[in-house]
Amino acid sequence: MTSSPVNAQPPLALSQGLLNLLTTCPRKFQYTYFDELGLPIAPEQQASVTWGSQFHLLMQQRELGLPIDSLPAMETDFRESLEALIAVAPDLFMPDLSPTDPVTFRQSEHRRTVEFGGYLLTVIYDLLILRSEQGQIIDWKTYLQPCSRLVLAQDWQTRLYPYVLAETTTLAPSQISITYWFVRHRDRQSNCLQPQQLTFAYGDQQHEQVRQDLSYLTTQLSQWRSQQALPKVDLAKGICPRCPFAIRCQRSLSSMISAQSSDLPALAEIEEVAL
Ligand code: SF4
Repeated sequence: MTSSPVNAQPPLALSQGLLNLLTTCPRKFQYTYFDELGLPIAPEQQASVTWGSQFHLLMQQRELGLPIDSLPAMETDFRESLEALIAVAPDLFMPDLSPTDPVTFRQSEHRRTVEFGGYLLTVIYDLLILRSEQGQIIDWKTYLQPCSRLVLAQDWQTRLYPYVLAETTTLAPSQISITYWFVRHRDRQSNCLQPQQLTFAYGDQQHEQVRQDLSYLTTQLSQWRSQQALPKVDLAKGICPRCPFAIRCQRSLSSMISAQSSDLPALAEIEEVAL
C-alpha cells in the first residue's frame, strides 16, 4: 500500500475478477492485487483450471480457422465437449448467412478497456459477435456444475461485460446480451451431459445501475488506497473461516476461538462463589 495521493498513482486495471474480490472483501483484494499473494489452489481445482484454459485455447484456434485435430488438447474429453456444444448451438458455429443484419465483427479472446474514475475497466470476451443492431457476448464456462442464474446475475462479469461493450460501441444497452455456455456439464456419476446455456439481456436500467455501482466502488477504492490497509469484510458475513487468508487475518475458526477464550478472565481472577 502507498500513502501517495490517489491522483499521482498510475491507473489500475480492474477486471471482473478483481471487482468480485473487492466486493467480497476489500482486504482480500489487497492481499491478491497489491500484495500479490497467490491464492492456494487444491490439486483437483488445478486440474479443472488446466482443462478450462486448454478448452479456451482450443476455441480460439478454431475461431482463427487453424486446424485443431492435431492439438494435444484435442483429446476425447475435449472433442466430446466441443461436438456436444456444436450439436446444441449450431448457430454459433455456422457461417453468417443473415442478409438483413450480417455480422460486422467476430473475434475470440477479444479485449476491451474503458477508463472509469481513474481506473481501467478491462474485459476479455471469449467470443464477441457484433451486428449493426446486436452485440452478443459469449463466455465458455468449464466448471463441472453450472452456476445458478441468481448467482451469475450478481457476478461482476455479467454486469461489467455488457457495460464495457455499450460504452465502446454505438450499440444501445438493450441491443446487448451475454450468454454463458456450460460446456463441461456432468452429473454426480461424472456422465457428460448436454451443454447448458444462460443468457442475460442488458438494458438502460442495468447500464445505469452498473455505472452507479462502479462509481461507488471505485470511489471507495480510491479512498482506501490512501490508508494503511483495506478494510476487512464484516465478520458477521461468515465468509472468513473458509477464506485462504483466514490465518493471516486471524479469522480462522481456531484463532477466533482462542481470541474468545483469551477474553475470559483467568481462573485465579474469578471470585469464589459460596454454595
Ligand atoms: S479472512 Fe476474511 S477479512 Fe481476511 S481476507 Fe479473507 S474474507 Fe477478508
